[in-house]
Amino acid sequence: EVEVEAEKVVAELRERCATPASLLWDVAAAMAGEMGAGLEKEGGSRVKMLLSYVDKLPTGREEGLFYGLDLGGTNFRVLKVHLGGSKKHVVNSESREVSIPPHLMSGTSSELFGFIAGELGKFVAEEEEGTDMPNGKKKELGFTFSFPVRQRSVASGTLVKWTKAFSIDDAVGEDVVAELQTAMVKQGLDMHVAALINDAVGTLAGARYYDEDVVAGVIFGTGTNAAYVEKANAIPKWEGELPNSGDMVINMEWGNFYSSHLPVTEYDEALDKESLNPGEQIYEKLTSGMYLGDIVRRVLLKLSLQSGIFGSIDNSKLKTRFHLRTPHISAMHHDETPDLKIVAEKLHQILEITHTSLETRKMVVEICDIVARRAARLAAAGVAGILMKLGRNGGIDNQRSVIAIDGGLFEHYTKFRECLESTLGELLGEEASKSVAVKHANDGSGIGAALIAASQSR
Ligand code: ADP
Ligand code: MG
Repeated sequence: EVEVEAEKVVAELRERCATPASLLWDVAAAMAGEMGAGLEKEGGSRVKMLLSYVDKLPTGREEGLFYGLDLGGTNFRVLKVHLGGSKKHVVNSESREVSIPPHLMSGTSSELFGFIAGELGKFVAEEEEGTDMPNGKKKELGFTFSFPVRQRSVASGTLVKWTKAFSIDDAVGEDVVAELQTAMVKQGLDMHVAALINDAVGTLAGARYYDEDVVAGVIFGTGTNAAYVEKANAIPKWEGELPNSGDMVINMEWGNFYSSHLPVTEYDEALDKESLNPGEQIYEKLTSGMYLGDIVRRVLLKLSLQSGIFGSIDNSKLKTRFHLRTPHISAMHHDETPDLKIVAEKLHQILEITHTSLETRKMVVEICDIVARRAARLAAAGVAGILMKLGRNGGIDNQRSVIAIDGGLFEHYTKFRECLESTLGELLGEEASKSVAVKHANDGSGIGAALIAASQSR
């Protein structure tokens, strides 16, 4: 009886989360359509298609010492790269990662930027010995700020809204570079912000530095986003002067994508309703690291309440939002022990669920699989949408297209990554797949900012 009830919950989830290729093609086509609509006019789509003002990507020939600052969703990173030109590329790089104290994610703008400038100052001071800048030249810094920003130039832009776990009201509508610059002045830090980008643009730039066939940078981390190279004359909403290069990097902000084809369940609806940004970032809530664990938690709670399959447990942990995190479901999903020992351990440690049967643990793994697979397949559909928009999904002209992907989810969640890659192959077909490559662009978001700072200051 208990098993029958439990299986009902899982069967329904399985059905609601199904993503056959035909549905994924609809999603990809919708993504390509929204891209066009967003380029057409300001506010033309939920997918904002923001101009990055990056019109030249790194070539690999850049030289000199550059700094990068990367503010994502969980950590931020400061780094320094010494670029040695086309033969030597990155001669040397140093970086440090600092986790953001949670209270700063919902405090004031000056507290957050003060903290960032403080950490940057410490890093620069420690790294300084022996690396004097040539006769008083200012240090050039690229700033990766991975939230939606309306750019006004390559080195300025105002925050449109916060996403992920951030909500600092007084920063919305403000110029993030000005805020950073003010905080740096307070620290007595003499640096020039040469570029403001986000992690998707940074990943694109970091990968392009080594490979000129890279057409897009995509992030699956705490959140998700994508950036790609568009022809400047294919951007009707652009009123400014066309750049010499003829190209413009578009920051899609695709996390806010929505289509009626998306397989949204009751769990997703509840998660969205209780989130910091209800109604927004629906694609992100289906596909990124901040949310996958919480979707699984909601299914497990339903399972517990409806079937009692976990016994008479105290459901308080299961009721706590974000208590089960994506790295936990990843660990359970990859459990290869014959008796699913890791699943038992996680259920016990995190959710206080003890004495589960092997059958029950298998059910938990299947739930992780359903949620992660749906995410990965929808992720692949998004990538296919970009290729469709670029006319590179047919494989006719054999032009090589490389998609650079980064982010903690893609990097650490092996089954997510494998499923994303195989689904893209499934969608493109054998012939077109030959000219499309997915590449893990490690730490593009950090180094990319420094590289764009370098290519701008050329
Ligand atoms: P950000 O997006 O904040 O810049 P990352 O790209 O490093 O950060 O991604 C962090 C996210 O990656 C976490 O929120 C988590 O969801 C996911 N993640 C990290 N480690 C793992 C893991 N071992 N398995 C699955 N997901 C992970
Ligand atoms: Mg990041």
